[in-house]
Amino acid sequence: MTAETVMGMVISSQNIGETDRRIVLLTREKGKIAAFARGAVKPKNPLVSAAQPFTFGEFFIYPGRDSYTVTKAEVSKHFDFVRKSLDKYYYASYMCELADYYTRENLDASDVLLLLYRSFQALMSDATDDGLIRYIYEWRMLCINGEMPDVFRCRKCGSENVTRFSVQGQCVFCDECEKGNDSAEKLMPAALYALRYIAASPLSELFSFKVSEQVYAQLKDITDRYIKMHRRYEFNSLRFIEENIIKT
Ligand SMILES: [Zn+2]
Repeated sequence: MTAETVMGMVISSQNIGETDRRIVLLTREKGKIAAFARGAVKPKNPLVSAAQPFTFGEFFIYPGRDSYTVTKAEVSKHFDFVRKSLDKYYYASYMCELADYYTRENLDASDVLLLLYRSFQALMSDATDDGLIRYIYEWRMLCINGEMPDVFRCRKCGSENVTRFSVQGQCVFCDECEKGNDSAEKLMPAALYALRYIAASPLSELFSFKVSEQVYAQLKDITDRYIKMHRRYEFNSLRFIEENIIKT
């Protein structure tokens, strides 16, 4: 067994005993892996900063029986959300939890890693509303995993002249096909445009649009209900957002 180098982001980190930390790394080379950072709780240990959540860099790892051990790390970016704002910290934690949910060891996660990195950059920049970044992230994550509905064509007739979104049916319809049926709700043109943009734009331009308050409200409503209906997993960090951010 030889040491290897991986590029990745720490998506979770917890103390093990009094001196060690167990981290979960989302890597470009190996998907999601768990690794021990020995001594990373001691203030003078060189791994202290590398073992923090939201740290991106190069990690030198050594394979063990059940998990890896980090022997060295070169941090290239630490996203310090705590210093920035608690809201951003909650959103970033939720994004990590969602990334954790969707990735596995040895399954390519480079798209998810890049999405996470871009989303963190967007959160740090203040140019886009935090809530909008969260919804863009959620849809793009569904998209990467093949779970985003086709928002370009009516499910029944294939028309691109789409006007309605069905949360339950996980699809969109045109007016003609949904006449007299109220289960699919009317979609604002700008909300449809936003969904199409999220599905198709390059990651580097993903966070470059803004929406009006009304469009944001519709995106929020559709996304929240969609995620609740189609994800069986309870996200702890999502509860934090709902309790601490949404209600205030
Ligand atoms: Zn149709």
